Amino acid sequence: MAEDGAETDGIRSQLLAHLARLHAAGVEWVPDGPPLEVAAAPAPAAPVVAQAPLLPGMEEGIAPAVSGLSLDERRQALQVLAEEVKRCTLCAELCSTRTQTVFGDGTPGAEICFVGEAPGADEDAQGVPFVGAAGQLLNKIIEGGLRMKRSEVYICNILRCRPPGNRTPLPYEAANCRPFLERTLELVQPKYICALGACAATNLLQTTLSVGKLRGRFHNYKGIPVLVTYHPAYLLRNPDAKRFVWDDLKLLLQRMGRPAPGAKR
Ligand code: SF4
Repeated sequence: MAEDGAETDGIRSQLLAHLARLHAAGVEWVPDGPPLEVAAAPAPAAPVVAQAPLLPGMEEGIAPAVSGLSLDERRQALQVLAEEVKRCTLCAELCSTRTQTVFGDGTPGAEICFVGEAPGADEDAQGVPFVGAAGQLLNKIIEGGLRMKRSEVYICNILRCRPPGNRTPLPYEAANCRPFLERTLELVQPKYICALGACAATNLLQTTLSVGKLRGRFHNYKGIPVLVTYHPAYLLRNPDAKRFVWDDLKLLLQRMGRPAPGAKR
């Protein structure tokens, strides 16, 4: 109540000051009229999460079926989806600063899908995920740690556009891009997902736990086992953490029924 009184006093003083200025300017009278209405201050604008687009092969309210599609049909559907992404302008800042969109790398049916954060400068320039220094390290992880070829895995990111200055993706940008990620994973149908870093883990698993707390065990994304480990860019800054990634890879290989490199068959 005391605050209401102070507010009324404030409005009265402003009105008196306004009338004094009018009088000083020669105004002798003001028209009678309805009581003044003080407009409420507009609420601060919330970040806009754009309505999720309908993606190729999707119908409103109906989960897209991919189980009946051949590998070739899934490959074609991914290409159509990549074209859709190229035209996407849901995140105003990102689509005004990107050189091009960065969809994904690999083929449907890959046993493992690596999911990172967002394209960086090299990826934005080349249109392919994980081609910079962090990408070189990911290649070593795939080839040296998993004993697989890069062409045997699928690689994509939470965002398809580079955030300016490589800043962390904003929550509404990740939400805007999520339908593309979900549809990609539906079409690739990996047996395992490896989430690289906190951004991938947070958005895939809808958790706020750190990588340190999430790694070392499997989680679940729509029935697909998800392993969380450190992002290669983090490893470039913190080489000591490579041993944790190696432990995580051994866990993945064990789950896949493959021997760890150096282990006796
Ligand atoms: S980040 Fe994803 S949702 Fe945002 S503009 Fe790029 S493609 Fe569209």
